[in-house]
Amino acid sequence: MSGSMFDYEADVLVVGSGAAGLAAAVTAAREGCSVMLFEREDHVGGTPGLSGGTAWIPNNSSMREQGVEDPRDDALRYLARTAFPQY
Ligand SMILES: Cc1cc2nc3c(=O)[nH]c(=O)nc-3n(C[C@H](O)[C@H](O)[C@H](O)COP(=O)(O)OP(=O)(O)OC[C@H]3O[C@@H](n4cnc5c(N)ncnc54)[C@H](O)[C@@H]3O)c2cc1C
Repeated sequence: MSGSMFDYEADVLVVGSGAAGLAAAVTAAREGCSVMLFEREDHVGGTPGLSGGTAWIPNNSSMREQGVEDPRDDALRYLARTAFPQY
């Protein structure tokens, strides 16, 4: 018997391969850690596999550079309405 009670060892264990898990795994690997990723489904990707695959970053610098207007107040109003419609 080896000195370890585990069959596999890694610096970082990530559970779930969605946006959060994959971001954590990639970041840890880029920082030089060995990574194990556990996923309960038979495919990786989590919920983003169902998503539009885009990220909305309101009023971001790339949009501003291209002259695209996305006023901060509009974004805050939209988020507040969606997240807290009762208010
Ligand atoms: C229809 C739809 C469309 C969307 N469109 C967009 C979009 O266009 N843009 C956007 O930014 N966001 C979108 N979202 C939201 C986005 O998908 C979620 O905010 C994001 O996926 C959350 O990531 P997560 O890593 O926290 O969770 P998830 O992506 O849900 O990942 C969790 C993972 O963990 C795994 N898991 C759970 N329990 C265990 C366990 N015990 N052991 C091992 N693995 C486990 C799951 O199988 C899954 O793979 C959309 C969501 C839906 C439902």
